[in-house]
Order: sequence, then structure tokens, then C-alpha cells
Amino acid sequence: MATHFDAIVIGAGQAGPSLVGRLTQAGRKVAMIERKLFGGTCVNVGCTPTKTMVASAYAARLAQRAASYGVKIGGDISVGLKAVKARKDAIIGRSRGNVEGWLRGMAGCTVYTGHARFESAREVRVGDELISADQIFLNVGGRAAVPALRGVDKIKYLTNSTLLDLEELPKHLVVVGGGYIGVEFAQMFRRFGSKVTIVERAARIMRYEDEDVSSAIKDILEKEEIVVRVGAECIEFEPRGEDVAVGVTCTEGDPEVVGSHVLLAMGRRPNTDDLGLEKAGIKTDEHGYIVVDDQLRTNVPGIWAMGDCNGRGAFTHTAYNDFEIVAANLLDNDPRRVSDRLPVYGLFTDPPLGRVGMTEREVRESGKAALIGTRPMTKVNRAVEKGESEGFMKVLVNAETKQILGASILGVGGDEAVHCIVDIMYARAPYTTIQRAVHIHPTVSELIPTVLGDLKPLQ
Ligand SMILES: Cc1cc2nc3c(=O)[nH]c(=O)nc-3n(C[C@H](O)[C@H](O)[C@H](O)COP(=O)(O)OP(=O)(O)OC[C@H]3O[C@@H](n4cnc5c(N)ncnc54)[C@H](O)[C@@H]3O)c2cc1C
Repeated sequence: MATHFDAIVIGAGQAGPSLVGRLTQAGRKVAMIERKLFGGTCVNVGCTPTKTMVASAYAARLAQRAASYGVKIGGDISVGLKAVKARKDAIIGRSRGNVEGWLRGMAGCTVYTGHARFESAREVRVGDELISADQIFLNVGGRAAVPALRGVDKIKYLTNSTLLDLEELPKHLVVVGGGYIGVEFAQMFRRFGSKVTIVERAARIMRYEDEDVSSAIKDILEKEEIVVRVGAECIEFEPRGEDVAVGVTCTEGDPEVVGSHVLLAMGRRPNTDDLGLEKAGIKTDEHGYIVVDDQLRTNVPGIWAMGDCNGRGAFTHTAYNDFEIVAANLLDNDPRRVSDRLPVYGLFTDPPLGRVGMTEREVRESGKAALIGTRPMTKVNRAVEKGESEGFMKVLVNAETKQILGASILGVGGDEAVHCIVDIMYARAPYTTIQRAVHIHPTVSELIPTVLGDLKPLQ
């Protein structure tokens, strides 16, 4: 006999625990199932550990550049990866403990630890226990994809999870994949002292960004002596003694790069392959993402999917927003929808990139009449004063409605400054609202009104 609950939530990632909180507050009896680490990817092997280590890498870089600020540091500057890891482990350990403690102490919530699989559309098995509910919420997230490239099974490779556990610095880290995960790790490990090469199959790194943005990021990395190999059409692997040879190109340039360690940062895949979805009749797309509607309902009534596993977002803020959408619809009689969400995200290199809405390429492809404003960070006082003036900002505006279509802010504070544009876009107000706002001097944000005061037609 199954133990019956009002709701079952599978996965304690970025959406599940908050939903359990709302459901139990509403008086529901809820089962929460987590197979491994409470807090999921973000807390344990994603955002929190990487941004904690990006902070260590920033400190190292600043120490190396100290003389340029008139600051003397005696002796060599070096990074102890063990200490960096200990700091990271302490921070993520607290976060994980907070999530787990919150759930275990929550009235109305029963926590199960173990891998959950559907037995039917209303029943889930965890180990020896069979539990059932009228409503089931999936928040199972994803993991690093390991493409079946030639030789990949013959080498020891690292993923975003295992790289975070190293205590000794790689001599030469080859990062395969020039997306945001690969690029963040590349800069971080270079600053820790590793030699780093990025190998990217596409013609440029950060290929979903505009060409000017991705080429500025490449320049920033190359200035720190990171080698960037793009157009790598022949990626394959071969053990070479203690090292690994990574095939890069079959046509021109060095055909391979030999590193001591290889990080595979070639995308993510959803944790939907071992969930028994077929027993519940839940549909997935060709990549394994659970198909959901605009309010995150699957094709099976009474079952919802939130976060990375539904393919509608790939970030912590999108997973959390999924929770808000489901809770609003179920508990607040508020018909929130995924399609109300603007695309927003950051790349947490130094300097970071803050992004919202359409890229310039997308605006051009849409055929909309548009205006564009740009400004290099060398013309942003705060950036110059900080000695961190790499990058630029770019804003695109709909020429007819005067509403902002999108922005990229690559520069110091860009991940924060972009939010004044995010908020005006949500308000659906014209760009002139920001243009006339008085921003604090000296900040990066104070130049956004200036950029908007100098818009030109997008040719
Ligand atoms: C290196 C890296 C850096 C990142 N940096 C950022 C960043 O800076 N900002 C940002 O917004 N996003 C970042 N992300 C993405 C972010 O981590 C994810 O988008 C986010 O964690 C997704 O949350 P989620 O709730 O969908 O799933 P997850 O956080 O992955 O949680 C899913 C949970 O479900 C559990 N689970 C899975 N299957 C089962 C099962 N069958 N039974 C029981 N439990 C199960 C898992 O153990 C896990 O705890 C980063 C990701 C990586 C890999």
C-alpha cells in the first residue's frame, strides 16, 4: 500500500523547496524527495561554488595588479587551491544545510532521501517506499552532457562537478566548450595559475552573443594569456602518458593541444532518463526535456515540471520563477505564465556580462526598426577609477514604441547595472523614463541615461 500525500515534489533544486514551503503553508501534506545534495546544482556544483571561486580568482588578480594601484605586496603571489576549495566548501555547506534543515523542520513536509521513479501517474517509488499523491511536481534539474566524441571513454575528464573538488592546480587545463560554464572556469583557473586553453567547435566563443560581445570577451581572456582555439571541427581525445591530447583541427593550425587535465563543458542534459516517465505517460522532447505548457503543466493532468528539466530556462532565476508561476496559478488564483518572462542572465567573468532581451543580431533578424546606443567602458568614470575599464555597453530600442528591446553590458558592475534596464522593460515604459532619471555618480549605471540620450538608427 502506498503512503498517500496531497503532493509529491521530486528534486530539492531551485524550485522544489520553495514550492514545498508554499504548499505546506496552505495546509497540504507534502513529500519531498531528494536523491543526493539538497539545494541541487546551483548550491552544490553550479552558481554558488563557481562564484565563490571566481571571487578567489578576482582576489588573486587584484593582488597581481596591486602595484598599478600603488599598493605594495611583498613576495610572490600564489593561490592555494586547497584553501580556495575549503572556503568554497564552507559556503556551499552552509547553504546546503540551510535548505535541508528548513525542509526537515517544516510542518507538513516529509523528507525522503533516495532516487525517485514513477510507478504510475500518481505513484512514485523511493527505495522500498511507495508513495502516492494527487499532484506531483518535478524539479529534477540536469547534469553535464558528455558527448560521444572519439576517445572520450579512454581519458579521465573533468566536469563542472569534479573540477570543483581538485585540491591541486592543473598544470594545463584544456576546457572543451566556450560557453558560459567553460569561459568562467577558464578565467578562474588561469588566475589561480594554470595554463589554460579553450577549445570551441563554433567559430567563436560565447556564440549566442553578438559578435562584438564575444570578440571582446575573447580579447579579455587572451590578455590573460588564455589560448582560445575556435572552429575546432575535429575534437577527439587520446591519452598521452599522464596527459591528454585533445584533437582540435584537421585542416589548419596545430592539430592538437596536450593538457594535464580536460574539462568537458559542452552543454547540459536533463535528469529525465531514469525517472520512469514512461510509466506515468509524461512526454519529453527529442533532447529529453519534459514538455510543458505556458503554466508548466505536463501532458499528464496533475503533474508539473519546473526548472532546467523542462528546457524553458537554464538558470537559477528561471527555475525559481517557475516555482513562482506554479504557486501563483495553484494557490493565488494569479495566472502567471512563462511567456511573461524576459530572457536575462549573466556571465560571471571579470568583468562580467549582464544581458537582457534581444541581441543586436536578433533585432536585425526581426526586421524591426530599431535604435542603438553604445559606450566603451573606457568612457565610464567609475570603471576608469577602478582600473577596470574593459568592455562596453550596448542598448537596443524599438524605434516605434520607444521600448527597450535588449541590452548587453560587458564591464565592471555590468551584472548589476543591467537591472535598471530589466526593470524598465518589465514596466513596459519607454526608454525616455531612464534617460530622464538621475542616477548616482559615480556608478556604471549613471551612463545608461547617457547611452540612451545618444541613440542612432540601427543600420
Ligand atoms: C558550473 C555551473 C555554473 C552555473 N552558474 C550559474 C549562475 O551563475 N547563475 C545561474 O542562474 N545559473 C547558473 N547555473 C545553472 C543553475 O545551476 C541551474 O540552472 C539551476 O541549478 C537549475 O535548478 P533546478 O532546480 O532546475 O535543478 P537542480 O538545481 O539541478 O536540482 C535538481 C535536484 O533534483 C535532484 N534529483 C534529480 N533526479 C532525481 C530523482 N530521480 N529523485 C530524486 N531527486 C532527484 C538532484 O539531485 C538535484 O538536487 C550554473 C550551472 C553550472 C553547472
